[in-house]
Amino acid sequence: MDETVDQSLREMRETFASGRTRSVKWRKTQLEAIIEMVKDNEDKMCDVLFQDLGKHSTEAFRDELGFVMRSATTALNCLDKWVVPKKSNLPLLFYPSTGKVISEPYGAVLVLSSWNFPISLSLDPMIGAISAGNTVLLKASELSPNASAFLAKTIPSYLDSKAIKVIEGGPDVATILLKHQWDKIFFTGSPKIGKIIMAAAAEYLTPVTLELGGKCPTIVDHHSVSKDMKSVVKRISGGKWGSCSGQACISVDYVLVEQSFASSLIEMLKPMIRSFFGENPKESGCLSRIVTKKHFQRLARLLNDPGVQASIVYGGSMDEEKLYIEPTILLNPPLDSEIMNEEIFGPILPIITLRDIQESIGFIKSKPKPLAIYAFTKDENLKTRILSETSSGSVTFNDVMIQYMCDALPFGGVGESGIGRYHGKYSFECFSHEKAIMEGSLAADLEARYPPWNSFKLTF
Ligand code: NAD
Repeated sequence: MDETVDQSLREMRETFASGRTRSVKWRKTQLEAIIEMVKDNEDKMCDVLFQDLGKHSTEAFRDELGFVMRSATTALNCLDKWVVPKKSNLPLLFYPSTGKVISEPYGAVLVLSSWNFPISLSLDPMIGAISAGNTVLLKASELSPNASAFLAKTIPSYLDSKAIKVIEGGPDVATILLKHQWDKIFFTGSPKIGKIIMAAAAEYLTPVTLELGGKCPTIVDHHSVSKDMKSVVKRISGGKWGSCSGQACISVDYVLVEQSFASSLIEMLKPMIRSFFGENPKESGCLSRIVTKKHFQRLARLLNDPGVQASIVYGGSMDEEKLYIEPTILLNPPLDSEIMNEEIFGPILPIITLRDIQESIGFIKSKPKPLAIYAFTKDENLKTRILSETSSGSVTFNDVMIQYMCDALPFGGVGESGIGRYHGKYSFECFSHEKAIMEGSLAADLEARYPPWNSFKLTF
């Protein structure tokens, strides 16, 4: 493997040095090829996502194929604008010099992706890296082996294989990749492995973007959204069970609601689950499966905690053979239980009750900074408090997960939920070094710049 990595990186560096990837024409050709690849392989992509995750083809299209198509199309349409150097207005002090900022590709980029959206989390960073003129090596996750094999087989037949490489493998291969010197590392995964990535990158002072996870809280301020409660319940249910069965970094992790409204909320969630997945969700084709036995066993362990068991108010059944966990609702599981202290990443929804919804701010602040905070509220005062008193990768009011789809907004975490951001123009920036260019004039000079200074006295 060492040799394969060496050779791939050598080829990438040679290609980059040739200047080919810097041309806008090359970048556009690659973006067009990604669009063509997705169009040509729609059925195959849906098949691998079903094999790896039991993902329904509509969900696969919404979260992965359609998402990648939109991302590549945006890049293709906006690239001419993105590459234009940005003129800087210099202070008078520097007259008659001029300044601008140009976006320079880093060179050889390493992309390590996760299994839950294996197509989009692999191709979307690649779109950004290509737009910015880089060469890319992708390693998808070993835990979505069919998607990983599909990408390794298909990408080379569509894209410039001297510039865009795919290597398959797990932590052992990632470890070898990380021993090499990259010009940028883009990682999607857990905070635990994120630390390993950052430590390896430090060896060469390589810049990193870390797209990590965490527990995304959802505040339900029932007073101000009582008339819209059906939509609120539908969106929460979609955000917990409607995308990879809760195995998404921006899933609704838990709900915060006032004690007085908790039972009404639960009674509204139950029929919503049934309307999504029928009376027997196990037979539904719309609920993704838990990715592996190991992940199933982790969720089973969280759920089998006696305190957590006692808090189950809906669902709770599991089938390890079928990697199935029923959509489950918990009411006030112990706050010191594992389920309330690690990212759930599964179809289990804890509801935590508060005396007053304003207490949700303190609750969120007592935990690591999340990737997203969701709040269903029309109370402007509560919105202001959430924005000014908490920190998170993003805040979405009156909806969930939709911020990810909107590439006019940057996507990324803060603190334990990540470093850096991407999507749309932010992806282009993520994979570019912003180089400052100053054009001096030899016509005039300021003598005070040079010694001897005896004849000058500078003051404010
Ligand atoms: P993970 O950290 O286990 O794996 C991610 C990648 O790292 C994989 O390619 C894997 O092969 C590699 N890896 C695993 N062990 C490694 C090691 N020891 N050294 C080097 N590389 C190693 O994460 P995961 O299980 O794939 O994904 C789940 C996590 O990812 C969750 O925390 C979730 O929130 C997060 N996530 C974040 C986003 C986002 O966009 N912010 C998206 C999806 C998932």
